[in-house]
Formats: sequence, structure tokens, C-alpha cells
Amino acid sequence: MAEFVGGDDAAGGGRADCDLIVVGGGPVGLAAAIGARQRGLSVVVVEPRSLPLDKACGEGLMPGAMAELARLGVEVDGHTITGIAYRQGLGPRFATHDFEGPSGRGVRRTALSGALVQRALSCGVTFVDAKVTALVQDARGVTVSLGGGSGIRSRWLFGCDGLHSPVRRMAGLEAAPRRRLVPARRRYGLRRHFSVTPWSDRVEVFWARRCEVYVTPVGGATIGVAILGGRGLDFDQVIASIPALAARLDGAEPDSTLQGAGPLRQRVRRHGVGRVLLVGDASGYVDALTGEGLRVGLAQAAGAVAAIAGAAREPVDVNRAYEHAWSRASRGANTLTAGLLALAHSPFRRLVVPISAAFPAVFGAAVERIAR
Ligand SMILES: Cc1cc2nc3c(=O)[nH]c(=O)nc-3n(C[C@H](O)[C@H](O)[C@H](O)COP(=O)(O)OP(=O)(O)OC[C@H]3O[C@@H](n4cnc5c(N)ncnc54)[C@H](O)[C@@H]3O)c2cc1C
Repeated sequence: MAEFVGGDDAAGGGRADCDLIVVGGGPVGLAAAIGARQRGLSVVVVEPRSLPLDKACGEGLMPGAMAELARLGVEVDGHTITGIAYRQGLGPRFATHDFEGPSGRGVRRTALSGALVQRALSCGVTFVDAKVTALVQDARGVTVSLGGGSGIRSRWLFGCDGLHSPVRRMAGLEAAPRRRLVPARRRYGLRRHFSVTPWSDRVEVFWARRCEVYVTPVGGATIGVAILGGRGLDFDQVIASIPALAARLDGAEPDSTLQGAGPLRQRVRRHGVGRVLLVGDASGYVDALTGEGLRVGLAQAAGAVAAIAGAAREPVDVNRAYEHAWSRASRGANTLTAGLLALAHSPFRRLVVPISAAFPAVFGAAVERIAR
């Protein structure tokens, strides 16, 4: 990655080094960078971790995410996903829905990151191996500090720096957590891969007593297992508590280290201020329960790029344009996730799978809603 040191102008708020700084080289940041290059903007991605990146994720790319990757010219390996299945114990507590249109794909995070990095490099995106430690904006641009006295100045900045976004904090966009979200209700995620031939082309979601377990086929001989639940999740204990899954994984070799993420719920005051826009998990997050974070994040990235590209052509209120785009990309999914989460934390939790099985049209409509 390039060692990027902005000139005196950069530090002093003068000439911009580029049109757009993307803080964070996760999938949403890289998608935004590629999209901005496709519109002719000069882009610098700042990411402190070595690429390709890994992260705790269920790794199910919904059909809508696949369509957006195709539009960006990104091709990913992995395993076809034809639909979603909800399971609870054995027997009739089983709801399934297969996507009505094109399929999705289970893709290992490192493979997704690698494909996005290759595409970004081929589009002319510049990478800087650093952490953004401070930002200052004025009417004409944003200057970020990268530590060691170096800095970059750009016309626009996207904070794509994940759940615990430093950009969100630096830009004053963080909202206080709701008081009723007591620590016991905070949710976390864990993920690990196993060398097992996938037994299904669907993402299987096992509804356990206090957590949900996602099994995603990500290759011809590999599955990913992600668990969502409260603090103190014990991966092995959870698997052992689901006999149908424990039997499948009995003797299977782990194919990755255990990774975690959380707390998942993150609130924001707005999704942008001035020349700083928040995109992806950084822009607020409800939960991974419905498994469409990447689809939504990629749609937000497209909306953010369109908003700043529009401003290059004619005077537009970029913050307003992005708020509209963010809402279009996220509101429906967030409402569905929040509703399911409320059910998951209610006494009716044990009815989620039986009701989904009893009303396949409702379950199917919900799956189609998160898929696209
Ligand atoms: C357990 C779990 C399961 C999930 N399952 C699914 C699923 O099946 N399907 C799906 O679509 N979504 C799923 N999600 C959601 C999905 O993982 C996220 O929505 C997605 O990773 C968001 O990507 P992002 O690029 O916004 O953030 P990230 O991938 O978190 O990337 C943020 C990047 O910013 C960088 N960064 C942070 N601070 C700085 C700084 N100061 N300077 C520069 N860079 C910085 C970080 O190093 C990181 O690389 C799941 C999430 C969890 C936790």
C-alpha cells in the first residue's frame, strides 16, 4: 500500500489531494471506492489492517448484493445459496423459502475482500496503510490525520469504518444508546468455519433457546457457522445444544479461528454532516439477524457515490440526497430486523419457526424483502 503524505495545503485546508477519502477498506468501503472510480472520481482508501481482510460474518450474500457486485464488475467465488431455512430442533419445525429470482452466494470474507481489492486496484483506487486519527472539515473539503504528522485532504469523505466507527465519533454523529437497551440485551456475533461438505444450498438458521445459529455453505467443502446472541456466548456449548447440528459437525476440522463482533446495535444522529457521509455499519446498525448487512451496505455505498457525483455536475444538497438514498436502501430492512428482534426477545420467541412454517407465504415475503 502507498505511503501517502499530504502536502502543506492538505494540512492547511487548501488544495485537495483527491475527490474522495474512504475511511475503512471493508466490503462497503471498497464498493464505494470502486463505484466512485467508475464515475471518474479520484479515490484514496485508508485502512490500517493488511488486505485481504477477515471479519466475523455469516457470509451469505443476498441476491441483491450479488447484483450490486456485478454492477461494480466484481466476481466472487463461493457456493450458490438458493434460499433460507429456519429450523428449531427436529421434525416439523422447519420453514423454507427459495429465492424467486437469481440466487445468492456464500462467500468467505477473505475471498470477498480479495476480489474487491483486485477490482479496486484495477480501477485505479489508491490504498493507504494507516489509521485515521482525526478529521477536520470546512466548506470546501475534509482533512484527515494519519498519525506521524501526515495527512490527506479531499473534497468528500466516507466513513466506512464499521460498527464502532471512529469517523462517526469524530464527526459528532454518534447517538447515545437507548436507555432501555440494558447490557443484557446487547447482542454479539461469533463465527468459525469447518471443513464439511455442505449438506444444503440454503442458509440454515437454527433458532436455539437464547441464540440463533447460521450455517452458510461457502465452498465445495467448507461451511461457515455464525452465532448471534447475548454476551458470553460459548461457541462449542451452543453447537452441542443443537443435536441436529452437532451431529453434522461431529469430528469436522475447524477451518478458521473463532472471530467475534459486537455489540451489534449502533445508533446515529444522522448519516452525514457537511462533507462527511457515513456508509455501511458505520451509519448505524440494528442486528445481523436477517443477514442482509452487505446488501444494504452496498446499496448505501451506491447512494453515497451518486450523491457526491451529482454534486459535481450541479449544485445539490448532498446530505439531503444521501439521507433519501440511505432511507431507500436501509429503512425496510431495518424495520423487518427490528420487528424480528423484538419477537426474538419476547415470550413468543419459540413460535418464530412454527409460525414461519405455518404461514409460508408470509415467511416467503419476508425473505424476498431481505433478499433484494
Ligand atoms: C456475526 C455476524 C454475521 C453476519 N452475517 C451476515 C450475512 O450473512 N450476510 C450479510 O450480508 N451481512 C452479515 N453481517 C453483517 C456484515 O458483516 C456487515 O454489514 C459488513 O461487514 C459491513 O461492512 P463494512 O465495510 O461497513 O464494515 P467492516 O467490514 O467492519 O469494515 C470496516 C473497516 O474499517 C476499518 N477501520 C476502522 N477504524 C478505522 C480508522 N480509524 N481508520 C481507517 N480504517 C478504519 C476496519 O479496519 C475495517 O476493515 C453479519 C455480521 C455479523 C457480526
